[in-house]
Amino acid sequence: MNFRGPIEDHKLYFRKILKICVMFLSAEINVTENEAKYLKLIYREQYERSTKLKTTAIARALGVRPATVTEVIQNLSKKKLLRYRRYYGVELTKEGVAEAQKLLRKHRILEVLFTNLLNYGAQEACDEASKLDYHASRSLINAICQAYGHPKICPCRKIVFSDSECKRQTGG
Ligand SMILES: [Zn+2]
Ligand SMILES: [Zn+2]
Repeated sequence: MNFRGPIEDHKLYFRKILKICVMFLSAEINVTENEAKYLKLIYREQYERSTKLKTTAIARALGVRPATVTEVIQNLSKKKLLRYRRYYGVELTKEGVAEAQKLLRKHRILEVLFTNLLNYGAQEACDEASKLDYHASRSLINAICQAYGHPKICPCRKIVFSDSECKRQTGG
């Protein structure tokens, strides 16, 4: 299902998608949009690149001051989503991992949508998905996932995490 057309049509499609995303604003969110950025970053580093992040590295990656990072890290720690040890770095808890995977599932399903429907390149799709993933509801993401045949990898070849409520039909 590829879409090629004039730029106005692209914009129209994008506005439609945005509208749907806002419509489905999820009630299950218990982290802020800013905190979500940290969870995604830490998960990618910890589990997909096997590096432990120190606050200075997080500050550099997100373009914020180390003091800001410390504050957010403390909040995430209060929410039991990560542990912070001085000199060692941050580490996600089991709950933190689950939350990060939920966010990255949304991110990667949106990437699949943008590359397939709008012919976006992987990088562009990733950039746009980063702006929207937090706001997309579970049901919206599952609907897109189903529409694209439950993809297992995203356009940047990372795992699309599964959702227990979004299953491939057996034999199909
Ligand atoms: Zn991405
Ligand atoms: Zn991706």
